[in-house]
Amino acid sequence: MTDQQHKTSVTVIGLGAMGQALAGAFLRAGHPTTIWNRTPGKGDDLVAAGATRAGTAAEAARASDLVVVCLYDYEVSRAVLGPVAADLAGRVLVNLTSDTPERSREAAAWAAEHGIAYLDGAILVPVTVIGTADALLFHSGPRAVYERHESTLKVLGGNTVYLGEDHGLAAVYDNALLDFFWTSMYGLVHAFALAGADGVKGAELAPYMSALLSIFPAAVESTAVEVDSGEYPGDQAPLVTEAANVDHVIHASVHRGLDVEALNGIKAVLDRAIARGQGADGWTAIIEAIRTPEARAH
Ligand code: NDP
Repeated sequence: MTDQQHKTSVTVIGLGAMGQALAGAFLRAGHPTTIWNRTPGKGDDLVAAGATRAGTAAEAARASDLVVVCLYDYEVSRAVLGPVAADLAGRVLVNLTSDTPERSREAAAWAAEHGIAYLDGAILVPVTVIGTADALLFHSGPRAVYERHESTLKVLGGNTVYLGEDHGLAAVYDNALLDFFWTSMYGLVHAFALAGADGVKGAELAPYMSALLSIFPAAVESTAVEVDSGEYPGDQAPLVTEAANVDHVIHASVHRGLDVEALNGIKAVLDRAIARGQGADGWTAIIEAIRTPEARAH
């Protein structure tokens, strides 16, 4: 028996940068792999490596019991999968497209209507990390379906995590981590712009950014404890002091003609928290003001 004969056949629909990485990982692990993409001409390397190119999405869906989809968003995934629902019936569909929990749950309801076993997923790493032990991917949906295909899905990443039966969970975790990532990455670039306005090169500031990052693991842990307990001790750094610090950064940025919309948003949340009487609490206390944006009107 060749390696491919006892490995699950997989179809990959969507050959953007990520879809190609996924198909490549399945192929390297010896899974017979069928590929399809709206625009022809993508995936020649995959075909050269042994993938079968389907002529239509319907043909791709029928080629394997396990169909993995990775498209631009759920609107596109609906447009591609809707017309092939009958071809997917009785198969397992794993949607690794990123979007919102609501759209994942809608997709799950649609799949249930059509007799398709459905897992929702999210990919948390860039294409170059796919197929390695470090690649983090989330899955949610029926546990039995996940467990049936766990070993095949783990080909995409050693750090593949099943989160639970609610199909929206993968997107919940994905959105939360992206929230942290994008706001942090915005701050990173803004900081370079701020120092750069006074002639400081990126490379001159970078070592100190890295030093600052070393406090993050402990901050993540303690913030999680505070969020879960609802207690925000501020004895070492109360919100009133932090608000003054944020104000300094805003004033320096304005003085240098930089955009301060995001910083003003942070300051507005801090001001609302202080107005609620939380000035002596610690930074995590802003979660109350984040949870009640309607308080803005008051
Ligand atoms: P790309 O933009 O490279 O690919 C998008 C895919 O969607 C292509 O297959 C494209 O087909 C298809 N598509 C777009 N519009 C339509 C349409 N109207 N009808 C049919 N097909 C359509 O995106 P990626 O591959 O990078 O990303 C795919 C998903 O993976 C996204 O949800 C992304 O957030 C997620 N992801 C990506 C990461 C990355 O590093 N790239 C990291 C983590 C998650 P066509 O070639 O015909 O345009």
